[in-house]
Amino acid sequence: MEMMGDIVIVGAGIAGLATAVALKRVGVKALVLERSDELRAAGAALTLFPNAWLALDALGVSHKLTSIYAPSIKGYVTNLGTGAIQEISYSGAKSDAIGPRSVHRKALLRALAEELPSDSIRFSCKITAIEAQEHEGSSIAVVHIEDGNVIKAKVLVGCDGVHSIVASWLGLPPVVHSGRSAVRGLAVFPQGHGLKQEVQQFVGAGTRAGFIPLTDNDIYWFLTCTSPARDSFLGDPKAIQREVIENYAKDFPELYLDIVEHSDLSTLSWAPLMFRQPWKVALGNLSKQNITVAGDAMHPMTPDLGQGGCSALEDAVVLGRHIGACVLQNGGLVPREVTKALSDYAGERRWRATWLIAGSFLSGWVQHGGSMWGLKFFRDAIFYKFLFRRIASVVHYDCGKLA
Ligand SMILES: Cc1cc2nc3c(=O)[nH]c(=O)nc-3n(C[C@H](O)[C@H](O)[C@H](O)COP(=O)(O)OP(=O)(O)OC[C@H]3O[C@@H](n4cnc5c(N)ncnc54)[C@H](O)[C@@H]3O)c2cc1C
Repeated sequence: MEMMGDIVIVGAGIAGLATAVALKRVGVKALVLERSDELRAAGAALTLFPNAWLALDALGVSHKLTSIYAPSIKGYVTNLGTGAIQEISYSGAKSDAIGPRSVHRKALLRALAEELPSDSIRFSCKITAIEAQEHEGSSIAVVHIEDGNVIKAKVLVGCDGVHSIVASWLGLPPVVHSGRSAVRGLAVFPQGHGLKQEVQQFVGAGTRAGFIPLTDNDIYWFLTCTSPARDSFLGDPKAIQREVIENYAKDFPELYLDIVEHSDLSTLSWAPLMFRQPWKVALGNLSKQNITVAGDAMHPMTPDLGQGGCSALEDAVVLGRHIGACVLQNGGLVPREVTKALSDYAGERRWRATWLIAGSFLSGWVQHGGSMWGLKFFRDAIFYKFLFRRIASVVHYDCGKLA
């Protein structure tokens, strides 16, 4: 069976749903194809910085989350080797009202999905290949689905994550392993945890960990380490929890261990941290004909600045704006003209994405630097005092509004 759609988006993660919402705001309907049978919320929670809240404002959904999740105004980084504690203020140059907030991933995905007509997300729909074809003098995208169906579209946006089929069709190289991995989970305190809305981080040799209250009852915790994610722990959350408590975090403060003890086991995951080399994004094809990518499919990065999801939301707004302008100028979605809109979108995102990947990697490398005294000096005397603030200013980027 073959169908013709205006815009097809592969992947109903943050990037795919936000892109569909952005397109809806500019009057263009998109079909989202998702291989899972429901919205996937692996990773339990994430922190959204001011740039993400500006993007969510533009998408018209921020109010649904700001009414539930409070902003963190400050945080602390404890050096487990020396006991030194560094205070970090998150208020920055802009208003505290849009300070970083950590949210349940599911809540973010639902807030976006609710904005879309019910028939616009197709679950259990796995893309196996894509190609471009000539159709009446213009290029169209052809999407092959695992069940044998084929969908033709005037525009295809790959929001299919780190191992994106669409990115690979564009010629972007596969992701590389950073040499680190991350454990994440949600701790639940039915009687309330009683902690302040502050981010706590702990840095030791080869390990960085922390926790952030989400609501009065839920706390998101994480631990990144220089060990690979071990296959033997896949599907065994109890073993992951034990490994964190008895091995990786055994010298951490009691409070951290207590939080890990309170984990909802169904939320625990241990994943390798992958990224695309920044120069491959700077020099690569981010769009070709009527096909482009957004989110992790374009710029997979390590999570050290918490910017992967935030920048996926920026992508959605910028892409929506370019496609919206193109539709307005041409009285509809004209394939020939859309190619230029996608190329302008890619141009607008290229250097920001490159810098985010590089800045995230540098932050992670320094913070996990280990025990070499030179690196420790660089981390404590230079990085946290002077550089981190500069790198972290990426979180105040404003991607602008939708038309
Ligand atoms: C440890 C860790 C901590 C993080 N913390 C933060 C944070 O605090 N803040 C932040 O902003 N970001 C954070 N991130 C990054 C963030 O999780 C990602 O950048 C974000 O989830 C990317 O969203 P996406 O929609 O691009 O990709 P994904 O969330 O991976 O979604 C891709 C979707 O595409 C679907 N899909 C894939 N292939 C196919 C196919 N062939 N056919 C159909 N569907 C397909 C998948 O099932 C999935 O639903 C963190 C990441 C990690 C690993």
